[in-house]
Amino acid sequence: MHLQFLKNLDLKSGEPPIAQIIKIKRAMKNILITGGAGFIGSNFIRYLINESDYAGNIINIDKLTYAGNQDNLLDIEKTLSDGTEFNRKRGEYFFEQIDICNFQKLETVFEKHQPDCIVHFAAESHVDRSISSPRPFIMSNILGTFNLLELCRKNWKNKSDKLFHHISTDEVYGSLEEPNSAKENSPYNPRSPYSASKASSDHLVMSYFHTFGIPVTISNCSNNYGPFQHAEKFIPRMIINMLHEKSLPVYGDGKNIRDWLFVEDHCDAIRKIIHKGKTGEKYNIGAENEWSNIDLLNLLCEIVAKKTDKPKDFYKHLIHFTKDRPGHDKRYSLNCKKIKEKIGWSVSTDFRDGLEKTVDWYLRKYNFF
Ligand code: NAD
Repeated sequence: MHLQFLKNLDLKSGEPPIAQIIKIKRAMKNILITGGAGFIGSNFIRYLINESDYAGNIINIDKLTYAGNQDNLLDIEKTLSDGTEFNRKRGEYFFEQIDICNFQKLETVFEKHQPDCIVHFAAESHVDRSISSPRPFIMSNILGTFNLLELCRKNWKNKSDKLFHHISTDEVYGSLEEPNSAKENSPYNPRSPYSASKASSDHLVMSYFHTFGIPVTISNCSNNYGPFQHAEKFIPRMIINMLHEKSLPVYGDGKNIRDWLFVEDHCDAIRKIIHKGKTGEKYNIGAENEWSNIDLLNLLCEIVAKKTDKPKDFYKHLIHFTKDRPGHDKRYSLNCKKIKEKIGWSVSTDFRDGLEKTVDWYLRKYNFF
């Protein structure tokens, strides 16, 4: 336990260990989560409440775009209101339906709840939509992040026990040839409006650290999968189409490669960074689990076939290849040595187990069980 803690100290930094320990200790009474009604945000709130020792207030700010759904948190609201001794000892959960592009409303929430930590998930997140309609990406992902940073600048000057943690993506590093993987200091090369908007927000976040001393951390994560993901994303869409025996469209030749991480492992990594991450630092979060789209889809077909009592290859004839996405990046890949060594995080979920859990969840959601 103690050794684990010491591992997070940077002995080469020149900063005395005691100063690093003081910095690592953060007040955590009011966590403000943006985008908490979306896929990863709702999983993170569930993780905080069910899986962690966090006992403070949670303030969830979400505009409830097409991608946000308060039903994603129904079980949590029930948990918090069940009145048991255990739950009375916890902090409270607040939901505020607010657009992060609206500075005035954000400011009111900031004054009301006085957050000491912000975990910023809210964003437009679907690459295809950023190609057909880029404007909301620029507004929410860049302007929205800027508004939050401005509030931190106003309220958190010289307060090193606060933290703004920004959630970003592996897509900012652009497409990488095998066997290369992006390190935290690799150059950015975003090539879709989505990844360019995320890259812009990453740069803004870091600029507020260097220019104004706002305590920030950033994590860049690979593709998440798991319960509560919107039906437009690759894995849910494929599962749902299989259940309705509809065609399974795959871009191009299906050879594009992505790394896949179970969403609960992502939440665990974020929680650990909030505790132990060093301000001004970025951390890559990946599963080192790279799959081509077509190989992943074949595996998913087999899992859904098993769960629905069909022959192994039953759904595979539904696969068909479509015209490629414009500017479709071939491969994303992250080097995750830093988070393992400095934060002590690693993946816990086996890929097949995580996929089975995900398929089970969609089968229950769509009443196939
Ligand atoms: P999501 O689309 O499921 O959820 C986004 C949430 O943000 C929704 O609840 C939506 O209502 C809310 N939102 C959007 N614009 C808003 C605004 N202007 N004001 C307030 N709320 C707003 O997205 P997700 O997959 O959960 O992704 C969360 C974050 O993680 C994003 O920042 C995304 O870039 C990043 N990320 C996602 C993945 C992934 O595989 N899903 C991987 C790496 C990084």
